[in-house]
Amino acid sequence: MYFCILCHAEHERQEADRVFSTGFRALPNGDKIPLGLCETSLQVLSKEAEKPFSMKPLSA
Ligand SMILES: [Zn+2]
Repeated sequence: MYFCILCHAEHERQEADRVFSTGFRALPNGDKIPLGLCETSLQVLSKEAEKPFSMKPLSA
């Protein structure tokens, strides 16, 4: 299990999901689960990145 930071929900880990090696979320019961992104979230993020005016880094 990991906590998907885009869905704000716990998912069962799948092959295509990305689970971060750093970063944990503390559960109410004291357990910690790793943060990650599910395949659906990764697709959403990659679509966002294709938009011309979103996710642009600030120019210096
Ligand atoms: Zn998700």
